[in-house]
Amino acid sequence: MKVPFVDLTALSSDIKSEILRQIELVSQDASFILGKEVELFEEEFASFHQVKYGIGVNSGTDALYLSLLACGVQPGDEVITVANSFIATALAISRVGAKPVLVDIDSQTYNIDVDKIEEVITSKTKAIIPVHLYGKPVEMSTILDLASHYYLKVIEDACQAHGSFCDGKFVGSIGDVGCFSFYPGKNLGSYGDGGIVITNNEEIATSLKLLRNYGQKKKYYHSRLGFNSRLSTVQAAVLRVKLKYLVEWSKLRRAHAKFYKQLFADNVLITVSIDYDFLSHVYHLYVIRVKNRDSLQNYLTDKGITTGIHYPVPIHFQEAYRYLGYKVGDFPITERYADEILSLPMYPELTQEQVIYVADKVKEGLHNAV
Ligand SMILES: *Cc1c(COP(=O)(O)O)cnc(C)c1O
Repeated sequence: MKVPFVDLTALSSDIKSEILRQIELVSQDASFILGKEVELFEEEFASFHQVKYGIGVNSGTDALYLSLLACGVQPGDEVITVANSFIATALAISRVGAKPVLVDIDSQTYNIDVDKIEEVITSKTKAIIPVHLYGKPVEMSTILDLASHYYLKVIEDACQAHGSFCDGKFVGSIGDVGCFSFYPGKNLGSYGDGGIVITNNEEIATSLKLLRNYGQKKKYYHSRLGFNSRLSTVQAAVLRVKLKYLVEWSKLRRAHAKFYKQLFADNVLITVSIDYDFLSHVYHLYVIRVKNRDSLQNYLTDKGITTGIHYPVPIHFQEAYRYLGYKVGDFPITERYADEILSLPMYPELTQEQVIYVADKVKEGLHNAV
């Protein structure tokens, strides 16, 4: 049996043809840039999250970057985020000219350790970027308290967590702004690059609309130094179709995760992360922790199972970030987990047989390694 890590071709043929029909309509209209589909998708995505504004942009990275600018973060400022995330979280901070200040992960949630944030806040700190990694929400109440006490902006990196919620609120709608990616492999993926920022703050929304479109107030009148970072109309059309299925797809992901968990329950060699009732995990990734991770990964590859590691090199160990001056031991949990984490196949269309096969081979591989 072959089990890919994700399978973007597994989309049902009904949905595929619905998408192609919508793309055809955009092409008849030839409204490729900021066409009406963009505005409609922005409204639908914002209303799904029960927020006022959605501003489509060309990637999750730009959603973060433009949000930092719209929140007034400037060169020399500091922005706090987590040591284990996709590099784009830190890159967005650097691109503003600000300094990424990292915090270790919590050993139970695998997300930013909220109890270690306050000790790195300085007079230069302007914002916190919590990352809802793997699709699991960060517990936001501590972060919101710190933000209001120290006058910091909260920019949620929800690029892996479309549709998950914390205490009854969708992630992305809890802080000042929420950033999403529509990279094809994400829980809501387009047919290319794409992203969106959501917010209830009118000033930030207005600013983002200018920034993504050459700083343009009306055609050829530019009030800000802006960029070209728009969500394309074709992508918006694709996303409007897919958004209707997001809740259903999240349910399927959760069901697969529950099944994996059951199958691993009696195995002392496998650690699965703990779930909390007030957090809804949407399992962008299903991550286990094991000793002998690399040999298990090779074993699974031999058995036709593709896996991933998110992430093998923490941000503070990346060559590009050597200048930050962090050293081995600064973020012990992140560093230890980087050698133990393994992401198993996870996508809505995964079958029960595939989950059973993967779980069997994981147990087999670990048994052989002992
Ligand atoms: C994917 C991702 C991004 C960047 O999104 P792009 O659309 O690829 O630019 C940022 N942060 C996290 C956590 C991500 O997973």
